[in-house]
Amino acid sequence: MQLKKEMQLSKANETDRNSDGGKVVLVLGGGPAGVVAAVRLADLGHHVTLVNRPRPGEGLEAVPRHVREQLRAHGLEASADTFGPLVKARTVWAGQKSSAQLHVVHRRLLDQALLYDATRRHVNVVDGIAGGIVRSDTGWRVGVGEFNYEGDFLVEARGREAGGKEGGGTVICLTMRYRMPGDCEPFVEVFSFEKGWVRFIAGERREAALQIYLSDDNGDIPAGSFALKNFFEALTGGLSAHLPLLAEAKPKGEVERRNTVSRLREPLIGMDSIRIGEAALALEPLPGSGLEQALENAEIALPVIRAWLAGAGDKQQLAAGYIDRVKADFGALKQSRQVRFGRSENK
Ligand SMILES: Cc1cc2nc3c(=O)[nH]c(=O)nc-3n(C[C@H](O)[C@H](O)[C@H](O)COP(=O)(O)OP(=O)(O)OC[C@H]3O[C@@H](n4cnc5c(N)ncnc54)[C@H](O)[C@@H]3O)c2cc1C
Repeated sequence: MQLKKEMQLSKANETDRNSDGGKVVLVLGGGPAGVVAAVRLADLGHHVTLVNRPRPGEGLEAVPRHVREQLRAHGLEASADTFGPLVKARTVWAGQKSSAQLHVVHRRLLDQALLYDATRRHVNVVDGIAGGIVRSDTGWRVGVGEFNYEGDFLVEARGREAGGKEGGGTVICLTMRYRMPGDCEPFVEVFSFEKGWVRFIAGERREAALQIYLSDDNGDIPAGSFALKNFFEALTGGLSAHLPLLAEAKPKGEVERRNTVSRLREPLIGMDSIRIGEAALALEPLPGSGLEQALENAEIALPVIRAWLAGAGDKQQLAAGYIDRVKADFGALKQSRQVRFGRSENK
């Protein structure tokens, strides 16, 4: 059903949740950042439509324990409930060993639960690819298939796939999924090897994912899926000393290739629009704090969006405050990764 702005506004006016003036907000992307923004703005009485195309592939992620509580604090109970038990995560870096407790998260389950939570919280969730994003005198228009959705404010939360100016540099993450032997307990292991960095995540139900991070400086990572599989197998052949269990694991599916370099995506804030989560600042996921960072960024953006929608405060000042904060966070996070992982990336 095509949503008309007038209908949405009149619907919002009928409710008594209309404390901030009931504007129409379009959120693009239903990952953790988009859903937190959507539910919080809906709580304030705004009429929120969230457009999401499900993430392709099946991923396992290792997530710090307090992220689950962060989700609960936003009332995203079903999402928090998808977290697996805490498992031991061991990092071996330049001879230094450290360990932590992390949750193994099945990303497809989390993504489905996020949308379920959003629907439960009065967000209009649209399943589809957002395209044809146009700004006119009266507001924003977003095309999804044959329908158009209109709104007063746009929240860009499409993660790494959001458009916009990109920085340079490449860090390729090659991922392969595995089925583990029956007696394998969940664990996470991170270590460096001569060609790059490795993260192995073994979750429940004998599922596992091996991520190999390579700097693509030499351009020697093949493009075709057959050649890529051979390339990946050659890399994993040298890992058995670090990961003896790999010899017993059965590969599943194709090698997935993603550019995971850290990037600040500008402009962070525009005419009645804002970028949040990885659409604003994407950090190389190896240290396992991407989800936490996406949530924190959404939390920083919320008061800015709220004031903007309420027409409270100087827009330029609000924008400058947000831009400064995101840039400062990006710089600090990049530096802490470089200190911890002893490497530098191109800007
Ligand atoms: C290989 C890899 C491994 C990672 N491992 C970890 C980890 O172990 N721990 C951790 O904390 N973080 C990890 N991360 C990072 C984590 O996934 C992100 O930081 C986090 O999901 C960002 O949240 P977000 O809401 O900003 O964006 P996303 O979660 O990326 O959500 C964006 C959503 O927008 C949708 N979308 C994209 N384009 C469109 C479109 N045109 N129309 C509609 N919808 C669209 C996408 O399908 C997706 O559902 C990893 C990332 C990668 C790439």
